[in-house]
Amino acid sequence: MVSKVENFLGIDVGGTSIKAGLINRTGDLLQDETIPTERFSNNETFLLGITSLLQKFNLSNVKSIGIGTPGPIDIENQIILSSANIPNIKNVKLGEHLSKITTLPIFFNNDANCASLGEYHFNELSKTDSLIVITLGTGYGCGWVYGGKIFNGFLGNGMEAGHQTVVLNGAICGCGNKGCVESYFSTRGLLGRFKEKTNLELKDAKSFFKLVEKNDEDAIEVLDFGVLAFAHSIKNIVHMINPNKVVMVGGITKSKDFFYDKLINHLKNIIFPVLYSNLKIEIGKEMSGFYGAASQGFE
Ligand SMILES: [Zn+2]
Repeated sequence: MVSKVENFLGIDVGGTSIKAGLINRTGDLLQDETIPTERFSNNETFLLGITSLLQKFNLSNVKSIGIGTPGPIDIENQIILSSANIPNIKNVKLGEHLSKITTLPIFFNNDANCASLGEYHFNELSKTDSLIVITLGTGYGCGWVYGGKIFNGFLGNGMEAGHQTVVLNGAICGCGNKGCVESYFSTRGLLGRFKEKTNLELKDAKSFFKLVEKNDEDAIEVLDFGVLAFAHSIKNIVHMINPNKVVMVGGITKSKDFFYDKLINHLKNIIFPVLYSNLKIEIGKEMSGFYGAASQGFE
């Protein structure tokens, strides 16, 4: 008998919480649950947390489970190799664990790829053949949805566009390398470069953009360089894969009024006209990460 259930469960593993949501194909939210991440001291407690989260849902009402986690991951074996946001967990065999709890199909990918797929499925304006989504939050993530499918690369670690070198021998990135665009245009990047310049520690992107609003010279200088670095990262992506849309999502986009026009001006100057004339650069829909994670089950 073919299952008539058309609800999809999505789980979004984040640095501060794990959010799960049950949605249908049109993106209506039927149930959502959250558990805090901080209490996970090792793989075992993390997996117990996932189990307790799943127990809050009636799984007989679910067609598939999709998970999005920070990378790097092993997509084929459904393993979280490590996570900068949850440093206590390593080589977590998430797929193997879930297969002991449920026989439902499990889909697994990194969080930026899931966010890209969510943008593709739930923002009508983003349903294009070659869609790049850049997530601008704590870090800089990226995903490419091509012909309606996530481009995974080998084992699911393709499109790590946040770690393109944009400044030779530049600022140290969380990944250990120097000059990655994430070190210039993300919350971590903007706050880090601002601290380097002023020795002042800001608590979040909001306080950084407040300074920009007040015409703080240092903040503006850090932002302007960040936008230039960001523009070059987009240039690289566009020249490599020729998307017809680049969509930005995430916390930083709330402050788009302070950078969008500058970004477009740079892009006009540095992207080949033949590529730029068919390109749209937009701010995407704000939605919880579990939407994209769940939509992995749509295919
Ligand atoms: Zn890096």
